[in-house]
Amino acid sequence: MEIKWTPWRMAYIQGEKEEGCVLCRIGAESKDRENMVLCRGERCYVVLNLYPYNTGHIMVAPYAHLADLTDLDVSTSGELIILAQRSLRVLRQEFHPQGFNLGMNLGQVAGAGIADHVHLHVLPRWQGDANFMPLIAGTKLIPELLEETYARLRRAFDLGD
Ligand SMILES: [Zn+2]
Repeated sequence: MEIKWTPWRMAYIQGEKEEGCVLCRIGAESKDRENMVLCRGERCYVVLNLYPYNTGHIMVAPYAHLADLTDLDVSTSGELIILAQRSLRVLRQEFHPQGFNLGMNLGQVAGAGIADHVHLHVLPRWQGDANFMPLIAGTKLIPELLEETYARLRRAFDLGD
C-alpha cells in the first residue's frame, strides 16, 4: 500500500522547499484562507495538508517549533487531541469517511516531511481509496479540490461541531 503513494511524495520531495519552517510560518501568519488554516486554538491549530494523500487530509500542529511529541507540555498535548477530535467530527459530518488514520512521523527516517516541527496527521479513509489516490495525485485537479475541501471544512469548523 505504502509504495503506491510514492509518486505523490516524490512530487513533494522534488518540489521547491521553502526556507525556514512552514508550520511556524503558517501558525504566525494571519492569511488563514491562503494557508488553508481551518481552526485555531490557543496552543495548536488545524490546517489542510497541501500535499494530501486523500480528500480532507488534515494536520494538527502546535504553534511552538518542537520536534518531538515528548516536547509538548500538558496543555499543548491536550489541545492537540481536542483539535484532532474536532477534526474527526467535522470530517465525519462533511465527508462521511469509513475510517481514519491518525499518526505522526517522528524523524525523517520515519517519513516526516517536516521533521523538526511535530504534527498529527488526520487522514480520512474510504474503501478502495488507496487505489484511486495515485491516479488523482499530482494532477491539476488537486488545487481546485483543495479549495473546495477547504471552504467546506472551514464552514463546518466555524459553525462548531
Ligand atoms: Zn516550526
